[in-house]
Amino acid sequence: MIGIDLGTTNSCVAIVENGTPSVIPNRGGYKTTPSMVAVTEAGKRLVGHIAKRQAITNAENTVYAAKRLIGRKWNSPQVKNAVATSSYRIVEGPHHDVRIVLRDKEYSVPEISAMVLQEMKIIAEDYLGETVSKAVVTVPAYFNDNQRQATKDAGEIAGLDVIRIINEPTAAALSYGFGRNMEKVVAVYDFGGGTFDISILEIGAHGVFKVIATAGDTFLGGEDVDARIIDWLVQGFKEEHNLDLRQDRMALQRLKDAAEKAKCELSSVKETEVNLPFIISSGRNEALHLQKTLTRQTLEELSDDLIERTVDICRQTLEDAKLEKDEIEEVVLVGGMTRMPKIQSAVATFFEREPCKGVHPDEVVALGAAIQGAALMDDKQEMVLLDVTPHALGIMTFGSIFEELIPQNTTVPTHRTKIFTTSRDNQTAVKILVMQGESTNAEENELLGEFILTGLRRAPKGTVEIEVTFEINADGIVSVRAKDLETGLEQSIQVTATSGLTRDEIKGMIENAKDDVVDRRSSEEFEAAKQEAEKIVGEIEKLFPQVEQIVASSDFGRDAIEKARAIVERARQAIVKKDVAAIKEQIDGLTRTHRMFKGVVAKT
Ligand code: AMP
Repeated sequence: MIGIDLGTTNSCVAIVENGTPSVIPNRGGYKTTPSMVAVTEAGKRLVGHIAKRQAITNAENTVYAAKRLIGRKWNSPQVKNAVATSSYRIVEGPHHDVRIVLRDKEYSVPEISAMVLQEMKIIAEDYLGETVSKAVVTVPAYFNDNQRQATKDAGEIAGLDVIRIINEPTAAALSYGFGRNMEKVVAVYDFGGGTFDISILEIGAHGVFKVIATAGDTFLGGEDVDARIIDWLVQGFKEEHNLDLRQDRMALQRLKDAAEKAKCELSSVKETEVNLPFIISSGRNEALHLQKTLTRQTLEELSDDLIERTVDICRQTLEDAKLEKDEIEEVVLVGGMTRMPKIQSAVATFFEREPCKGVHPDEVVALGAAIQGAALMDDKQEMVLLDVTPHALGIMTFGSIFEELIPQNTTVPTHRTKIFTTSRDNQTAVKILVMQGESTNAEENELLGEFILTGLRRAPKGTVEIEVTFEINADGIVSVRAKDLETGLEQSIQVTATSGLTRDEIKGMIENAKDDVVDRRSSEEFEAAKQEAEKIVGEIEKLFPQVEQIVASSDFGRDAIEKARAIVERARQAIVKKDVAAIKEQIDGLTRTHRMFKGVVAKT
């Protein structure tokens, strides 16, 4: 049994061994693995660090942040936004769902997420030396039913029995409270690569974890901060050179990389240099460089409103929980973005207390998932997790009114029943539209599914009574039943994600995914890293004479050439020493050098 934090940017896998939870490092020794998937020109599938490293040179066939798309419908604003800003191609699928095109083949989003889950499964299996088949997987607390179902589908495709889906902030609280036997009200502030979540929990004696309220924004994350830096760089470059870097896909990818790197650096230093040699051609046979200093203060100004949005959500959640700030006894920070000093201080200012420093923001969620997994396997473990539904659930009634059955923040599992009547004379059928959301206008909420109850007795309107029962299980997944009270006629559905996959499709994907594992396991890690490094070295070597000729006249150029030679040399040494970690480390530098060289040659 493993716990997996399937993150937007990075994923992490953990396990409880002899009562102690720990994160399992991947083969490169890293505790987190990029949630990235790529297909190479030769048709090889890459996942994790190896996919990230080649992202810039193979941008169109490299998927990042697939979690932002999971369980969403094609026509949703979030998908439209992703279509406009992603470097990979997103198209409409057969069920108004979303498909991603890699090397002319269409993949569903659960299939892409399955590749990441499968990688996490392999990491655990390599470590444990045995097959792993069961997992607890985390999702943002604010995920709706469609997104949860799609995540479960992803687990199934990856060959994992997802025994429970739990909310990320709840997992973080489990990890924080594990073994401490405390009684405390805790706020978990989770700001990751793609999503923001806040949950307020009560940790009770004897291991009872009760969520009081939860809220969030599934389209607010570190990537939005990166986008602000990119805008700033693009704008500055435009003012200086009157050229739009956005027109150049490769330049944009390099900017994206540089923006994230600068953002992370500014968490520990006050200013940093963004340095992208030969970013674009001036059009007059001359390559231009981007060199700009970004200060922590500028970054804070650029991201101020995004941080403020998270604070607003915290304020609202406290209100929903009917708690005052001083009733929160601990604030736990989760997610890579909480390393940003401005975020830490904004949280401290709002909650009027310093956040807890004792948990590792990247690992705490996976650890919590593993703890929950262990508790589910072991009857003796005295741990009770009471989570809540993040969205209200109800049905659409006459006139597009949303009739709520289960309010937001109700403890799950739960079920509620309500009686409805027909709205027309002699009505023999009713259509039940199951919806999730907070708006009183049904059309503004998420449609989860629909079904028709037929064969009603003919009678004047308002006289036929239909009993509708909603049930939410411990995974947060919904089922609905409708019953004609007079005839006893009943219809029910397990609400399957309307944007999801059919059973047959999932079956086919499971088979494909199995083939892939056989392929991956047979390849030796050293050989793969060596081949990759040697290939790039070869290409750099080819370009050296040409590049030297072009740039030798400037100090900047000579410096770049020298650095390139040093990187190539280090890579060679690492290959000789058969040091896999060192080769991988050099591949990053080699890739950057190669890209820069190609830029120089192409732009002059
Ligand atoms: P997560 O989804 O929790 O893995 O968080 C990933 C996000 O955290 C990405 O947007 C990263 O760029 C960001 N991140 C990681 N490390 C840092 C850091 N030191 N400072 C600021 N942001 C960071």
